[in-house]
Amino acid sequence: MKLRIGAIADPGTSIVNRTGGWRSEKPLIDHSLCIRCFNCILYCPDSAVKYSEKEGIYFDYDFCKGCGICANECSGRAIYMVMEEK
Ligand code: SF4
Ligand code: SF4
Repeated sequence: MKLRIGAIADPGTSIVNRTGGWRSEKPLIDHSLCIRCFNCILYCPDSAVKYSEKEGIYFDYDFCKGCGICANECSGRAIYMVMEEK
C-alpha cells in the first residue's frame, strides 16, 4: 500500500497557484522617490513587480509573498513594507 500523506494530486506552477495569500506584509511605493533603476523587478523572486509608462512601478498582489526583497534592493528607498490588513 502506498503512503499518500502530503501527496500533491495536482501539481502546478506559481502562475497557477496564487501565492499572495501567504503574505503578512506588503510592499508600497512612494513614486516621488523612484529613480527607475528597476532593481525591484530584477530581484523579485515572484515576478510580482510590474512597470507601465502610465502607472510606473506597481505590484501584483495576487503573487507577491511579501518577502521584502524589493524594498531591500530599492536604490531610491521608494519601496516600504507595511503590515497586511486581514
Ligand atoms: S515583497 Fe517580495 S514578492 Fe512581493 S513584490 Fe517585493 S520582492 Fe516581490
Ligand atoms: S528599485 Fe526602487 S527606485 Fe528602482 S525602479 Fe524599483 S521602486 Fe524605483
